[in-house]
Amino acid sequence: MKPASEHFDAIVVGAGPAGITAAKHLGQDGFKVLVIDQKKEIGSNVQCAEFVPLVISRHAMLRECDIAQQVHGIKTFINDELVNTLRAPGYVLNRGLWEQNLAQKAEAAGVSFRNATRVVDIEGKVVSVLKGTQLSQISAEYILGCDGPRSIISKKLGNVPQEMCAALQYEMLLAKPLEAAAIYFDAAYYGGYAWAFPKGKSANVGVAVHDSYKDQLKTLLADFCQKLIKRQVIQAEAGLATTGGLIPAGGLVACMANEHMLVAGDAAGCTHPITGAGIMNAVVSGHLAAMAVTMHLRSQGRDPAGKNYTQALLAEYGIRFAVASDRLVTRNQGWTNNQEEFTALIRRSWIAFPEYYAQQ
Ligand SMILES: Cc1cc2nc3c(=O)[nH]c(=O)nc-3n(C[C@H](O)[C@H](O)[C@H](O)COP(=O)(O)OP(=O)(O)OC[C@H]3O[C@@H](n4cnc5c(N)ncnc54)[C@H](O)[C@@H]3O)c2cc1C
Repeated sequence: MKPASEHFDAIVVGAGPAGITAAKHLGQDGFKVLVIDQKKEIGSNVQCAEFVPLVISRHAMLRECDIAQQVHGIKTFINDELVNTLRAPGYVLNRGLWEQNLAQKAEAAGVSFRNATRVVDIEGKVVSVLKGTQLSQISAEYILGCDGPRSIISKKLGNVPQEMCAALQYEMLLAKPLEAAAIYFDAAYYGGYAWAFPKGKSANVGVAVHDSYKDQLKTLLADFCQKLIKRQVIQAEAGLATTGGLIPAGGLVACMANEHMLVAGDAAGCTHPITGAGIMNAVVSGHLAAMAVTMHLRSQGRDPAGKNYTQALLAEYGIRFAVASDRLVTRNQGWTNNQEEFTALIRRSWIAFPEYYAQQ
């Protein structure tokens, strides 16, 4: 590997919510920070249904324009029957706008961004990046892997590929306004569920299934849309936008950090194994990562970022995700076409039901 041409206090790989949050805090703490992302534009082509709990405001400031709609809760349907309405107020975001604003705040704190640039390798503190056909090397005292579900940094830390769900989503025009987010369980969606999250006049309508069933996504989503059209939830128009992607379902990765590298957000498995929610966890883990790296850099490495960060992440998510992973494994093993048994299975494995919390 060639010697590095530039040196930073911290390099953040990935400009999603985890990476931008971490970079902003490190910039505000006075460090020289570079964020690298393979996307041409921050906030473009977000792979997300954009639902966040209201309490995200404790961790991230939202402007009015960042919120597409506020919802009062989540309705759960099993086998097409409404079985629960959970009072869990939240927002459906204009996530792209929010991320762009977050990046502007990071830039204002002195952070540099390099877009359309892919990290292809890491050796020690040296990062190899590819921009077009040009390969170059950049180094940093600390490298933060906020590079999503297929993280190159997680792999470098020795983690094996995680359990994943695959998702496909259309933005559809609504037939009438919806006040709640809706989740649909059906035996056809093995390992996952379908959803309709309203954004004013439209909604993010999608299906997620276990990764091994990803070939069925297009058909499943078409059928789900037909069902919603019949019920006059959405209009029979073509989708306004299409997105999709992978959602980690394996819980926290085994190794979250070492002495010069850590992972945050999806790269660290900070996505709730049962719900697939990862936006707020990306923000929280990005902030925790920045705090640990700040202590590390200020103490010239005497305060071990890796150990402090791992402890913080385990304290935040360890027990919650272990419970969720346990419910996920039991649910997927017991998946059944028998409607009564399926309903009972979902009640034991979905966060809206008391049965989820009642087990050991
Ligand atoms: C279809 C779908 C729907 C979802 N819906 C919700 C939801 O409603 N609510 C919720 O809370 N969560 C949802 N999630 C999960 C949520 O999107 C993620 O948990 C969240 O985006 C994680 O943020 P992050 O910053 O860790 O990673 P990401 O947002 O994935 O950002 C990672 C960034 O790293 C960049 N990158 C990756 N590799 C490299 C590389 N080698 N070099 C340079 N750059 C790189 C990528 O371009 C990307 O910008 C959904 C996920 C999917 C796929």
